[in-house]
Amino acid sequence: GDRIEVRALTKSYPGSDRPALAGLDLEVPRRRFVSLIGPSGCGKSTLLRVLAGLTSPDEGTVDLFGSGPRALCRAKAVGLVPQTPALLPWATVRRNVALPGRVNRRAGRGTDTVDELLEGVGLAHAARSYPHQLSGGMRQRVAIARAFALRPELLLMDEPFSALDEFTRESLQLQLLDLWQQRSTTVVFVTHSVQEAVALSDTVVVMAPGKVHRTVPVDLPRPRG
Ligand code: ADP
Ligand code: ADP
Repeated sequence: GDRIEVRALTKSYPGSDRPALAGLDLEVPRRRFVSLIGPSGCGKSTLLRVLAGLTSPDEGTVDLFGSGPRALCRAKAVGLVPQTPALLPWATVRRNVALPGRVNRRAGRGTDTVDELLEGVGLAHAARSYPHQLSGGMRQRVAIARAFALRPELLLMDEPFSALDEFTRESLQLQLLDLWQQRSTTVVFVTHSVQEAVALSDTVVVMAPGKVHRTVPVDLPRPRG
């Protein structure tokens, strides 16, 4: 199980006449950086939610490196950055990032400190703020730091940068590439920007409604860690 293997995945929402996913097949070898693109409503978010174990398929199988989605999630090996991240309103930024675990006071083998993570997303100054004191882009960055904190085997991101200004976006893109290159993280990244897909990923998966239309390798000479 050194890959993600999705077979004949079907998922319908109650009251909807057309399934959101209709017999989708997808294979992603470990350590790939896959971008998912396709028209609005073609099932990209639904696929991420199934991979994250947030919703179960109606039919089909999902194998994530030999585990099911829920098992991988329980092992804290899945990081999800949803389109609209939910932060704990009563917890500081620092606590929101530290909460899923896997962070230490001091940097150690295989862990980051909260301060390093916050610095990486440009939020060192906001460590003691509460979510309601932050802009939408800042909240998004907290969610990204929280997902990075897990050092997940599988990192799922749903248009994580689209609400950010250009400078923040560029710095987080670089940080994401760094995470991907330094660690054995497999990334599935939903974006509506073909340019972003090509710039970041090594594989672009183009979706048609409910299925994978085609898988296109991105042939860029980029170093890998
Ligand atoms: P994408 O992320 O590509 O825009 P989605 O996965 O969000 O696509 O949606 C796929 C289809 O499922 C769309 O037709 C959408 O309207 C429908 N859908 C998504 N979420 C729900 C929901 N919670 N209830 C009913 N239908 C939904
Ligand atoms: P748990 O041990 O809590 O059931 P799992 O991740 O093993 O956690 O399974 C969670 C749910 O996902 C179960 O309902 C199971 O039927 C489903 N499931 C597990 N593995 C797969 C798989 N490879 N393909 C499709 N569904 C799966």
